[in-house]
Amino acid sequence: MNKFKNLGLSDDLILLLSELGYKEPTKIQSLSIPLALMGRDILGCAQTGTGKTASFVLPIIEILNNQKSKARMPRSLILTPTRELAEQISIYFKKILKNNKLNFCLLIGGTALTDQDKLLNKGVDILIATPGRLIDHINRGNILFNDLKILVIDEADRMLDMGFIPDIDQISENLPKIRQTLFFSATLNKEILNIGKRFVINPKLIEVSPPSSTSNTIDQYIIKCNNKNKLNTLENILSNIETKNTVIFCNRKKDIGSLYTALKRRNISSIMFHGDLIQSKRQEALREFKNGNNKILIASDVAGRGIDIENISHVINFDVPINPEDYVHRIGRTGRAGKKGTAITFVLKKDTKYLQEIEKLIKMKIKIFNINLEEKKIQDYEFDTLYESNQIPNFLKR
Ligand code: AMP
Repeated sequence: MNKFKNLGLSDDLILLLSELGYKEPTKIQSLSIPLALMGRDILGCAQTGTGKTASFVLPIIEILNNQKSKARMPRSLILTPTRELAEQISIYFKKILKNNKLNFCLLIGGTALTDQDKLLNKGVDILIATPGRLIDHINRGNILFNDLKILVIDEADRMLDMGFIPDIDQISENLPKIRQTLFFSATLNKEILNIGKRFVINPKLIEVSPPSSTSNTIDQYIIKCNNKNKLNTLENILSNIETKNTVIFCNRKKDIGSLYTALKRRNISSIMFHGDLIQSKRQEALREFKNGNNKILIASDVAGRGIDIENISHVINFDVPINPEDYVHRIGRTGRAGKKGTAITFVLKKDTKYLQEIEKLIKMKIKIFNINLEEKKIQDYEFDTLYESNQIPNFLKR
């Protein structure tokens, strides 16, 4: 017996899910789909990778089916912190709505407002939006929310980190008070719960796999290094370890550019991926990385949440993340779907306290990676100085 049937989904949808290879619901789906179908508000704690997207996409389709939207009056709204996440959700809808009359529209920055206006005018059932672009449309008087039945706020913790909560408050002032709200976050600490409570009424609290868990398909290591040998160590790893493809995370956006240039000088080609790039550049970067044209992606945490690329073999934390949950997210880009992955974190002396917080969160000690550093003939230099100045010193130029 198909376990999706027990959740209250229609036969058509169940058939489609089996075509997609979904044999049984994930935990978050089992818990949230029946409640969402009953019309309950949800405060859900679930990470990317748990099947969270389907846990709101499927109920939305069931609830909105058999009715039509009017021009400029969407019937559901999904708010996400990043364009990449919005795009991933839209890909999901595209797959699941292939035989369905419901339609969706993506409202994200980096694409023309006028094209989005046209779609809105035709009538949209499901709106997937990032806060800034949605507010642009609201201010232009393009959208009326009188018909809105369901609001989804996805990755609320990331919204908070990115300073989007005032935007969400502003958007919510335009929404009908009587609606269903599904609020998801990778962490549900007190602050997020208090924010969540502003948007939901009598919610059901659902929690699956706390963000402290890292998959046991990922081999985790640390490398202790210092400012002077950090870049050499990275070069060594990239040149000597067999990797299929690697995502390198930096803490600060401007460091991504510096590292990209420093690697280029050492004849290592990579792609940059962060929130300041224009949309077309971000898409191009992902495309190049996905199709294997370039095997190294240097990314920020925003990207860490957004990218859903199968088969990433290695994650390197060039900087120890300051927020321990970000560690779990970053390394969760590898070792997906039961495949093996490796995560290596570079630790400077000053990072010790952040490493301890990570180890406390994941409840394990991370092994030390043994790498024989080759003697490099380039002069030592202070890596932080290089970063601060955002320039490559002459002795590094080849
Ligand atoms: P998400 O956490 O929503 O980003 O989903 C992570 C991955 O799991 C995506 O590639 C989904 O297509 C996949 N997925 C979601 N639900 C299921 C399911 N019930 N069975 C198998 N795969 C799933």
